[in-house]
Amino acid sequence: MDGSPATILIVDDLPANRLVLERQIERLGHRGLSVENGQRALEALRVERIDMVLLDIMMPVMNGFETLEVMKGDPSLAHIPVVVVSALNDVENVARCISLGAEDFLFKPVDRVLLEARIESCLSRKRLHDREQAAHAAAEAANAAKGRFVSLVAHELKSPITALIGYTDLLTHSGEQPPTPFQQEHLLRMRKLGTLLATLIDDLSDLSRIESGHLQLSPRPLALAAAARAAVAALEGELKARRQRLRVEIPADLPLVWGDDIRLNQILLNLLGNASKYTPDEGEITVVAVRRDAAVEVTVRDTGVGISPADAPHIFEPFYRARSAAVTRQPGSGLGLSITRHLVELQGGRIWFTSEPGVGSAFTFSILMLPADLTRGAVDAAWPADLTLR
Ligand code: ADP
Repeated sequence: MDGSPATILIVDDLPANRLVLERQIERLGHRGLSVENGQRALEALRVERIDMVLLDIMMPVMNGFETLEVMKGDPSLAHIPVVVVSALNDVENVARCISLGAEDFLFKPVDRVLLEARIESCLSRKRLHDREQAAHAAAEAANAAKGRFVSLVAHELKSPITALIGYTDLLTHSGEQPPTPFQQEHLLRMRKLGTLLATLIDDLSDLSRIESGHLQLSPRPLALAAAARAAVAALEGELKARRQRLRVEIPADLPLVWGDDIRLNQILLNLLGNASKYTPDEGEITVVAVRRDAAVEVTVRDTGVGISPADAPHIFEPFYRARSAAVTRQPGSGLGLSITRHLVELQGGRIWFTSEPGVGSAFTFSILMLPADLTRGAVDAAWPADLTLR
């Protein structure tokens, strides 16, 4: 429509009125399309590309109020500006139309100058709306293309890296020709770097799926103690290598939670991994879970480097890392906490932290308890094997 003639729908039951408006509209360089009642107007609006509507109020079959109500309740029509055309003494009905969402009004007989002014102001608003819509659609398309690109690249990179990790394991453990200590040390380094790359690829692919709303979760009843045990087991080597002490305080009678086990594991691994990375050797890490209202709160506390007040507002942002040497000498992409926060929120929980530089940090997330309508009996029947709670 930019600069080009607009299509204006004239809705009036009197042919003479329609004709006058059509002529005036054509003289202004636009196209007038006439119908005789609201019902016909809605039919036209659904098939034609209409830029604005001039709407009479009193009409048979469907009057102006009903037409406005339908238009404003339909997201595909609500943005089309409507100017009510009414008799001079009809102020009350005009006011009602405005409250129903009409943009403006004109009195009959329609003054040519006022008509031109109303059309121009409505069309410039419509143009702005159309431009915003086009920009929004273009941004969405670009984002979707980016998402597809990231998924494709992630997939293509992941397979060779997984194979490389497999070959380093083969060389380390095949037993055919045991590696020398020098070779062993470098194989270990290669494995570490490979794993780091694989994690980065997984994180990028997760972030892209979260941003596009395509991350699927499969919640089911879970025992937090078991989830914590699995995460701790995965990080045991790292904790031992740094001689960090770990305390896990999860009450045996903690209720089941409602979550996705893979994603809960990812959350715990991220928080525990960070606690270990950003805590000096021989530091202490504690995992505590408590029940609070309808949720369970899990806190991972460390005696590490802490987070400065300047960094605190940013650490959940993707790719953000504190600039201190204690942080930058550790491997990381700055994606972990941003993904963790999304994963917690997607499962209905919240995440927050407290920290004191040089003393330590405590990250807490909540996860919903099993919904009350899933009775213990129903759960046992559905997932008997998984409920190995102490
Ligand atoms: P990464 O660890 O890969 O840098 P994260 O998103 O997990 O990325 O964390 C973002 C930043 O938050 C870290 O770079 C670090 O500055 C800070 N941070 C996270 N956890 C801790 C922690 N337990 N102690 C101190 N700083 C932390």
